[in-house]
This record gives sequence, C-alpha cells and structure tokens, in this order.
Amino acid sequence: MSREDEELRLRKLHQYNLLDTPKDDAFDRITRLVSALLDVPIAAITLVDRDRQWFKSEQGLGIEETPRSQSFCAHTMTGHGPMVIKDASADRRFVDNPLVTGHPGIRFYAGVPLRAADGTPLGALCAIDSSPRDIEPHQLKLLADLANLTMEQFELRLLASLDGLTGAMRRSSFMATAARDMVLAAQKGSPLSCLMIDADNFKSLNDQFGHAVGDEALVAIAKAINDQLRRGDSLGRLGGEEFCVSLPGAELSGALAVAERMRAAIAAIRLQTDTGEVGITASFGAATLVSSDSSPSDLIHRADVALYEAKNSGRNRVAA
Ligand code: GH3
Ligand code: MG
Ligand code: MG
Repeated sequence: MSREDEELRLRKLHQYNLLDTPKDDAFDRITRLVSALLDVPIAAITLVDRDRQWFKSEQGLGIEETPRSQSFCAHTMTGHGPMVIKDASADRRFVDNPLVTGHPGIRFYAGVPLRAADGTPLGALCAIDSSPRDIEPHQLKLLADLANLTMEQFELRLLASLDGLTGAMRRSSFMATAARDMVLAAQKGSPLSCLMIDADNFKSLNDQFGHAVGDEALVAIAKAINDQLRRGDSLGRLGGEEFCVSLPGAELSGALAVAERMRAAIAAIRLQTDTGEVGITASFGAATLVSSDSSPSDLIHRADVALYEAKNSGRNRVAA
C-alpha cells in the first residue's frame, strides 16, 4: 500500500470513530460467536492503526492492542480474501513473531478483512488457536458472514453518529470524542486545542434568501472547515449554525493558524441565490487544554467565551 493510500486508509479509520472506544456488547457477541462456531479459544475484531492493532473486541487474549508489526490481521487486511494459516510455527512470515513464540502461542489463524463500502481496509475478524489445525469451508463462510455483520454495525454506528445535513458529528458523538481526545492528551502529555465556530448573521441570511440557502451555507461551511483538518482532528455540529473542532496535538498558536485558514475559506464561499451571489462569514473562538480542565466542557466553555469576544469585536475573526 502506498503512503498516500495508507494516509487515506487511516483517515477513513478515524472517521469510523472506533479506536480507543469502550468495550461494546454488540461486538463481544460477534467474537463469542466466532469462538463457539469455530471452536477456537481466541477470537478478535482488530482495527489496524498506524503503529498498532487495537482490539474492538477480543475473547481469550486479555490484551487491548499489540504493535502492528506483530499483527496477523494486518496481513489479512491487505490481502484479497480470507487468510488461513494452519501452523504459524511452520510459516516463514510468522515463525519469529512474539505472538507465536510467546503469549498466546498462536499456531492456527483464520482472518477475514473488514472493509468499508469503498473497499478501504480497516482491520479483520479473526479466529486463533494455540494448536495447529485446519478450517472447514462452511466455517470459513461463517467467519465471512460474521465479518459482514461486524462491518454493518460499523456502518450503522457511523451513520447514526453523523449529522445528516453537514456530515459533521452530532453533538453527543462529538462530545464523546472530545472526552477521549482529552484523556489521551493527558496520558501522552501532548497539547489539545479546540475551536468554537458560529456562522455570522445567519438569521438574516435565512430571512433574506430562504432556509434552503441557509442549509447550503451550512454544508459549505462544514466542508471549508473539514478541508483544513488533519487526521485525528474531529468536527462536530453542536447546534443550528454552531460547530466545534477538536485538535489533538495542537498548541494554541497552531489552533489559531488553522482557525484563520478556516475563516478565510468560509469568507471566500459564494452561494448562488435567486438574486445573485452572496457571501457568508463565521467567527471563531480558540482555547487550549490546561491541567485544571476536568472535562471537555471546560475547554469548550473557554473557546465559547473567546467566540463571544470575536462576535463582539466585529465578527468574521478569530479570538482566543
Ligand atoms: P450571530 O452573528 O450573532 O451569530 O447572529 P446569528 O443570526 O447567526 O445568530 P442567531 O443565533 O440569532 O441565529 C441563528 C440562526 O440559525 C437562527 C436559525 O433559524 C438558523 N438555523 C439553525 N439551524 C439551521 C439549519 O439547520 N438550517 C438553516 N437554514 N438555518 C438554521
Ligand atoms: Mg450565528
Ligand atoms: Mg449561534
């Protein structure tokens, strides 16, 4: 896979918003079924991140993640169909793998890729045994069916988490994501910044040109914001014409620079109306995480205070 393809793959994976999320019954049921139907002690739903594989669900492993370099599922993911290894200790690719030489002593492995609708590989559903063995064709078919069920769950959850108009995250999923970004930032000791964005004089845009033009403006604003985001950043629509962006890894200065680019991109939008072209602007408030913040609401509140400063000092600007 080329670097560009891998970057697109990781962006897609991030959009599904599954990495580092809590354990979930729906997926545990699937891995329990794999374990029972294939009669294996270990089953997992693996997502392959940049440097690691992370288990959305696992039976019999007792670990959350492994380095990507050790991942059998990373091989499955990039292959065309299922991957079956009857005895990993006799397979040149895996004989020195720590998951073969040490815990859990993988011998048998069967995995089916988990692919997004556009074919992007995200990970795999796999069955593992510590003794060499084979798999019957009907069992492999069951594994493929369960991989499809897993992917359908991913798709439905993604759909339910997004705002239908703009494609930004809905408030509740954005807040959960922001909370996770905050925990990870605190763990890694890395910065985290946040932008609050509110369209300017939006009521009068609606009043003058109609709700449909207003809706178009919201779509264009979300796109202009999205175009400036890096992998790992998240955009939420918190309410009517109000958006919030979480920027893991960004100091305040970086967040201000991103906000300025977004502001300029929004100010350049031209909407077609019955009476000609019309422009739109938005105001931005930026804030960065401090150690006394106990929830994302603290951070978002400071960004909101800055947003009001931007509104009060004339709109179409960024404040911190
Ligand atoms: P300010 O610059 O101070 O933010 O002024 P404003 O007019 O943008 O602020 P206000 O909060 O008064 O108005 C927000 C407007 O956004 C009112 C509401 O009708 C409109 N709005 C909210 N959700 C939607 C939507 O989904 N579609 C459209 N077209 N308009 C929406
Ligand atoms: Mg507004
Ligand atoms: Mg508003």
